[in-house]
Amino acid sequence: MYVLRLGHRPTRDKRVTTHVALVARAFGANGFVLEGVCDDSVYNSLTKASNMWGGAIHYECGVNGHEYVKSWKANGGEVVHLTMYGMPVDDAIGKLSSSPKPKLIVVGSQKVEAFYYMNADYNIAIGWQPHSEVAALALFLDRLFKGRELYTYYTDAKASIIPTRRGKRVEWRGQRK
Ligand code: SAM
Repeated sequence: MYVLRLGHRPTRDKRVTTHVALVARAFGANGFVLEGVCDDSVYNSLTKASNMWGGAIHYECGVNGHEYVKSWKANGGEVVHLTMYGMPVDDAIGKLSSSPKPKLIVVGSQKVEAFYYMNADYNIAIGWQPHSEVAALALFLDRLFKGRELYTYYTDAKASIIPTRRGKRVEWRGQRK
C-alpha cells in the first residue's frame, strides 16, 4: 500500500507533508509518493526515522499524479481518495480490508482536482468536517488495519522503545549514535 500526497508546496507544507510521510511509514504503508515536486527535507526526515526506528519505505517524488493513478489501476491496484466530500469510511472499510488489491491512498493539500474524485475507486470521508490530511490518513489506516499497526516493531531498527509508565526506555542494537 502506497500513499500519494498531492499539491505539496515546499515553502508552506514541509511540516505537514513530513507528518503525512511519517504517519504512512509508522502505520503500515510500503511507499510514500510526492506528486509534482521533490523536497529533500521531507525525504531526509523520513529516512532519518527509518534509519533509527527501522521500517524503511519506498519513496518517490516529482511524479505526474494523473499518470500515477492511471498506471496504479492499470496494474490491478485500487485507489482510495480521502476527502471530506466522500462516502462514510464505515461503508467501504470491510470491502477494502478484505480486498487483496494493492491500495493507493490519495491525500490532498489545497483544492484537489476533479480528476481524483472521478478516477478514485473510493472517495472516503473521515467525517464530513474539514480537518487534516495527517488525521484523515491516520484514522483511515487505523480502520483498515483494525488497530494492529500500533503494535508494529521493525526487526531492522537500531533502537526500539520499551514501553514504560514514566520516563523513556530505549533498547539499542549495535552501536549507539
Ligand atoms: N477543501 C479542501 C478540499 O478540497 O478537499 C480540503 C483540504 S484539507 C486541508 C487537505 C486534505 O486533507 C484533503 O485533500 C483530504 O485528503 C484530507 N481531509 C481533510 N478533511 C478530511 C475529511 N473530513 N475526510 C477525509 N479527508 C479529509
